[in-house]
Parts: sequence; C-alpha cells; structure tokens
Amino acid sequence: MTSPHLTIGILNGDDIGYEIVPASVDIAKAAAKRHGLNIDWRPTPIGRAALDIHGSTMPEGMLESLAKMDGFILGPIGHREYPKVSGAINPHPILRKYFNLFANVRPTKSFPGLGAIYDDIDLVIVRENNEGFQPDRNVVAGSGEFRPTEEMTISVRVITRTGSARVARAAFEIARQRKKRLTTVHKNTVFKLGCGMFVEECYKVAKEFPDVVLDEVIVDTMAMRLIRDPQSFDVIVTTNMFGDILTDEAAGLVGGLGMAPGLCIGEGNIAMAQATHGSAPDIAGKGIANPYAMIESTRMMFEWLGHNRGIKPAVEMAATMSRAITRTLANPATRTKDIKGTGGTTDMTRGIIAAIETEK
Ligand code: ATP
Repeated sequence: MTSPHLTIGILNGDDIGYEIVPASVDIAKAAAKRHGLNIDWRPTPIGRAALDIHGSTMPEGMLESLAKMDGFILGPIGHREYPKVSGAINPHPILRKYFNLFANVRPTKSFPGLGAIYDDIDLVIVRENNEGFQPDRNVVAGSGEFRPTEEMTISVRVITRTGSARVARAAFEIARQRKKRLTTVHKNTVFKLGCGMFVEECYKVAKEFPDVVLDEVIVDTMAMRLIRDPQSFDVIVTTNMFGDILTDEAAGLVGGLGMAPGLCIGEGNIAMAQATHGSAPDIAGKGIANPYAMIESTRMMFEWLGHNRGIKPAVEMAATMSRAITRTLANPATRTKDIKGTGGTTDMTRGIIAAIETEK
C-alpha cells in the first residue's frame, strides 16, 4: 500500500505573503511529518515577482499546473500596487472562477487574552465568491460596472439560482458538522428579486438538510448583532459583498485582520487556502505580520482535503496544528503585537512548530 500523498502549491503572493506563507508551509511540514503524510510541495510564481521575471502576474501554464494539484496556499495579493502594464492582472477573480471556488469559508474564533471583544466567539461566515456585486467576476466579458455618461455609473449585481443553491449547500454541509444551525443573511426587504432569489434557494436546499435549522437575518441587523451578540450565531451564509463586509467586521471582534482565515472551495476537488486580509505593504519585511490567518487557512485546507479524500493523516495533522496554534497563542512571547503579544512572525511560527514537535 502506498502512503497517503498530497500535492500542494505554494504561492507567496506579495508583500507580507513572503513572510506568512513560508511560515504556514513550515508549520504544515512539521505536522505532516508527525502524521506520516507525504506532501509534494510545488512553489509556483504569482504576483509582482512573477511579473518581473515572467512578464505576467499569472505566468502562462500556471492555471494548468495548479489544476493538477490537490490544493494550494495563496498568499495575499497586492494588485492595487501593480504597475499599469498588460501582464499585471489581479489573479483573485481568475483563480476563483477557473477552479469554480464559489464558497469562501471564513471562520471567526476568539482566543482569550488577544484583545477580542468577547472571549467566546466561534462562528463561520460562508461568503458566495463568484457572483453578486463584484464587477470583476460577475460577468464573463466586460465588467459588471459601467459608466454610460460622465455623471452616471451603473453597477449590476448578479444572483443566480445555481450560484445561490450551491453556496447554500456548502454552508449546510458545514452547519451539519457543527451546531446544525444556519443563518442566511440578506436584504430581501429591498432587493426583492436578488436577495429574494438567494433566500428562496437557501430554503429549497434546507429540505436536503432536515437536521439543520435555518433562520434568516437582514444584513443591517446582522451588522449590529455581530457586535452585540455574536455568540448567538454559528454558521452564516450570504452573498458576495455582504460576506466581504461582514467577515472584516467579524475579524474586528477577535483581534483584527491577522485573525481572519479563509478557505475557498467548490464542487471540484481543489481547495485554495487564502486569508481574508490583503498584502499589508505597510508592515511588509518588518517581521511583525501576524501569520495566524494564513496558518489557519492552511490548516483548514488540510482538514478539508483529509475529509474530502478520506486521508486520515491529513485530518489528524490539521487537529495537531489546531492544538499547537491554541497553545502558542496563549503565550504573549509567541504571538505578534497586533494580538497583544511581544513576539514577531518568526517567534509565533517557531512556537507553533515547537508545540507540534513536543505534543505527547
Ligand atoms: P485588500 O483590499 O487587498 O484586502 P486592505 O485594504 O483590506 O487590502 P490589508 O492589506 O488587509 O488592507 O491591510 C489593512 C490593515 O490591516 C493594514 O494596516 C495592515 O497592516 C493590517 N494587517 C493586515 N493583515 C495583517 C496581518 N496579517 N498582521 C498584522 N496586520 C495586518
């Protein structure tokens, strides 16, 4: 019998990506070693470095080679800083579309002592990833935003039954593994057709999950309730832009963007680990970036692949990483300053690796 094996891409991205992605890979390597999981790591150029070397932020053949992998770690992309040249493409919408990664799974979890507003938050927001208001991905050609006259701009929002049902299904699957409660967030009081369709599809999919209770909250109420009683939610599913905003708000509850991981998944077999935050050029190269979001995104990817492929060592490896992260975060010396620590990126990384290696 051959030992379990996964092929994983390493895409550093830009700016702090060069610090937090290698940190995540080193931690995953330590955990994989403990559980006898063979990982074929494939460094893959992307972003500004790829533009400088290959003339494109997404070099030719990149998508095809990623397609042969089981998953990949995508560091944050600083596309707003790219020079205005033809090869400087924002890879996000292309990757999400090409691999049909329609569900962006973003957990929010508080750890004691890190500056979270409450110490008992544990929820997951599932954000629709490929349609909605985002003009760079809601049409196949042109843009979902256009300017017919100098004083008028029109933004279109795309909601489809298929897109809504499949993200709802992904959220129900997650809810089934947790507290069996799902909240759909929308504004169907105003967007009667768009949000209306999204909610209708959620209720249709609910019939496939009789063990999960579905309820609904209007998005503006949700923005308020996330602050006042985040503990009353477990899994939330919502459309693209609402999800984008609510996940940053949720990150603010638990210590900021460094605490906001994410995993992009679809119906296919590939998963993309991608933290919620951007490339943070203001702190790049200073050794102070919080690697938690990237490490946790990586951990989630192995957990998902483990369940999806029936690879027990990947599930065990993810559990080991989780315990090591919790232990390390408890010590101010091995956590970064944004979460009330005294350490840097390397201290936190080494702390987690040591916790993995010394776990009984
Ligand atoms: P994008 O729109 O690409 O998501 P953004 O405008 O939200 O980017 P970020 O790059 O995410 O901006 O950074 C916002 C702020 O959060 C910056 O001041 C940055 O220093 C801080 N920040 C982001 N990620 C981290 C992190 N991992 N550790 C510490 N601080 C971070």
